[in-house]
Amino acid sequence: MPPERRITRFAPSPTGPLHLGHAYSALVAAWRGQQGQFLLRIEDIDGARCKPAFEAQIYDDLRWLGLDWPVPVMRQSDRMPAYRAALQRLAGLGVVYPCQCTRGDIRAALSAPQEGAHVIGPDGLVYPGRCRGRDMAQAGPNDALRLDMRRALALTGRVSFVENGPLHGGHHSPDPDEMIASIGDVVLSRRDMGTSYHLSVVVDDAAQAITEVTRGADLFEATAIHVLLQVLLELPRPSYWHHDLIRDEKGKRLAKRDDARAIAAYRAAGASPADIRAMLNL
Ligand code: GLU
Repeated sequence: MPPERRITRFAPSPTGPLHLGHAYSALVAAWRGQQGQFLLRIEDIDGARCKPAFEAQIYDDLRWLGLDWPVPVMRQSDRMPAYRAALQRLAGLGVVYPCQCTRGDIRAALSAPQEGAHVIGPDGLVYPGRCRGRDMAQAGPNDALRLDMRRALALTGRVSFVENGPLHGGHHSPDPDEMIASIGDVVLSRRDMGTSYHLSVVVDDAAQAITEVTRGADLFEATAIHVLLQVLLELPRPSYWHHDLIRDEKGKRLAKRDDARAIAAYRAAGASPADIRAMLNL
């Protein structure tokens, strides 16, 4: 078999300045893709938080770091028809239901005495299932759409993926019962967006023919959701490389809003791209 021509990507959300953690993620993705292709994707489905100025700064900082990528760059805000088509396909499989619950409703349902401890999964609080079983014909314009995790797994059986990165390297096949209990019915379409991170990332990694998804270890737990969606949508399945997260001197994860660690701030202070790489131990 010819060796795989690896295609990787860096997929930032332009909700703030590019900081050291992003630079690390971009450089790792470019390094993994250097014998193949490195792509950029702008994840701007959250219209309220994404700003054109941040997007422009991302391009500028990445170029300054020495990175290069094919244009035009895929932008998720242009991809709504593709997300709608995927949702329709999932709805056709009977694994999607409309949900009217507000965050307050979910917290209230979870604080009922019969509920056990709240489980926080990769999609936030595990949904208690109040709207599960509602029919898509009942979907209102302000409803979110959720994946019925149990039904989805009944269709796919156990899903699996290959992790190439050093942190969790190997073959993973998460236990379906564990996925139901600790991930639950994730949101596929938010009422204010018409899609969600999980759905868009899966549709777009396939559209860009990504063969290895490189990203931070904070998204490792979400990979089970993504692989499940890939199987349901009959999409090709990339392998994964989750890298460690960049932390500050106290060991705390860098926050996206930590402007002191923005690449722009280091640039303004006279740092070179080589200085940034050195700070990141690259
Ligand atoms: N857009 C996500 C972020 O900025 C990254 C998603 C991914 O790489 O899968 O955190």
